[in-house]
Amino acid sequence: MTAADLPSLRETVARHGLDARKSLGQHFLLDPAVCARIAALAGDLAGRHVLEVGPGPGGLTRALLASPAAEVVAVELDRRAVAALAELAAAHPGRLRVVEGDALRVDPSALLPAPRRIVANLPYNVATPLLVGWLRGAAAIEGMALMFQQEVAERICAAPDTEAYGRLSVLAQWRCRCELLLRLPPGAFSPPPKVWSAVVGFTPHAEDPGAALFTAMERTTAAAFGQRRKMLRGALKSLGEAEALLAAAGIDGARRAETLSVAEFDRLARALLARSG
Ligand code: SAM
Repeated sequence: MTAADLPSLRETVARHGLDARKSLGQHFLLDPAVCARIAALAGDLAGRHVLEVGPGPGGLTRALLASPAAEVVAVELDRRAVAALAELAAAHPGRLRVVEGDALRVDPSALLPAPRRIVANLPYNVATPLLVGWLRGAAAIEGMALMFQQEVAERICAAPDTEAYGRLSVLAQWRCRCELLLRLPPGAFSPPPKVWSAVVGFTPHAEDPGAALFTAMERTTAAAFGQRRKMLRGALKSLGEAEALLAAAGIDGARRAETLSVAEFDRLARALLARSG
């Protein structure tokens, strides 16, 4: 079988009984033009090893395989979709590896060689934990183009002093340059979700903070935004010695979390690490 002989995506869904399951966050992209647009947002894939999470019937996978990527490694939890992707793998010998399993348990650097990119229309129920895991390991990733619910995409890209600015904005922007690249209406998916979706592009910053500082940043942002209406001197109490931490970071304890820049959060996390380590 060659790529030209592949059945349409709708036929693939019908043949493999891929009726969408809510529990797996299944909203499929069946329009090849939309899939091609998303693959193009991932940048120049020539020679790259691409991790795709949740290929489903394989629309985006087909678009990624049409790029000059060295290989696509697709991790999928749904056994029905894994079976449906066998034809696609046969049409692209040696360029598509399908791994049946839970993407939350997969370490991209163990699964595929560098240079690595991640491209996915994410299952919305696990999109945030997947993203946080990849941000933790961002030093090993060249870039990501990921589809989220629009509200999550906006939180990721939000600026300080806005309603959407929070833990996810700080963690993502601390580790990557983040850009909202494309918004898609519910009707672009089958079945349509209740809300709009959006693709965010991530380009990791060169500096690798290391695991201990990443954990300190997670603790700092969780405490600060856990009580976002409170002044920081109160909100950071759970970290111990809030006043000393704020003084070490040169931040006024009367301020609230949403007013702090990512650079100020970086100072707080470093202060926390210095005091606990
Ligand atoms: N990429 C396909 C597309 O755009 O048509 C499907 C996207 S759909 C939003 C999410 C996919 O992720 C589904 O195929 C679902 O089975 C899969 N999935 C859900 N949870 C997963 C997990 N923990 N690990 C790997 N795949 C998962």
